[in-house]
Amino acid sequence: MGLTPVWRLRDSTPAAEEAPVAAPEVVPESGIASRGAPQPALVTHHSSLITGAGDRRSAIMRMEWPGLKEAVASCISCPLHAKRNQTVFGVGDENADWLFVGEGPGADEDAQGEPFVGQAGKLLDSMLAAIKLQRGANVYIANVVKCRPPGNRNPEQSEALACEPYLNRQIDLIRPKLIVALGKVAAANLLASDASVASMRGKVHDYRGTPLIVTYHPAYLLRSLPDKAKAWVDLCFAVRLMRDLQKGAATPT
Ligand code: URA
Ligand code: SF4
Repeated sequence: MGLTPVWRLRDSTPAAEEAPVAAPEVVPESGIASRGAPQPALVTHHSSLITGAGDRRSAIMRMEWPGLKEAVASCISCPLHAKRNQTVFGVGDENADWLFVGEGPGADEDAQGEPFVGQAGKLLDSMLAAIKLQRGANVYIANVVKCRPPGNRNPEQSEALACEPYLNRQIDLIRPKLIVALGKVAAANLLASDASVASMRGKVHDYRGTPLIVTYHPAYLLRSLPDKAKAWVDLCFAVRLMRDLQKGAATPT
């Protein structure tokens, strides 16, 4: 489809194997300043304000795929339900090694019910193609919130918190080897950190026992072409990490 060349760096070899091994240089992101030391993004006293939040969470954490999909489709647990056309559950291989997590549906996703199908999604597909992956084949794609925030604003913390058990359960069911957080909102919610993408990329984080790396959101990359090169470095880092993780898993217990 001619998408891969988007990810070919000029005057360099694109093969993941030959990409630089060094951790990427840490450059502050324009417009997204780090607000100092990581702070918990999810405030626990908040959840106790939602009646039965604990019960709801534990019910969700026991669901299998069909029940989980139904629960999301009929969810009215946060104000985002009011303006959605449909929920956007997530898509792909339910046994995937790779899990990519975005922020929330935009207009195209809200219309089609699938994550990353608009312009940013096309770029995500070409990012996947560049590392020889494709949607649905050993790859699962999900979002922090399952309903479109009006006007594509960032989800509120309370909305992300209300939606969090669904993503938690998806992750527990998929058991991916590696999670790739796409952009600040995904990283902030998954890692409960307010750090910038620039400071979080190039490192292996931990999400409830699963390795997680952070890179730029494709929608951001569409506006900031220079950072595409950094995202390519991140993808190469992810490929090498996955290779190690798969090797580790190669010995059956
Ligand atoms: N941006 C996201 O974060 N997720 C989508 O599904 C689409 C755009
Ligand atoms: Fe429910 Fe999540 Fe949609 Fe909010 S965003 S209504 S918690 S599915």
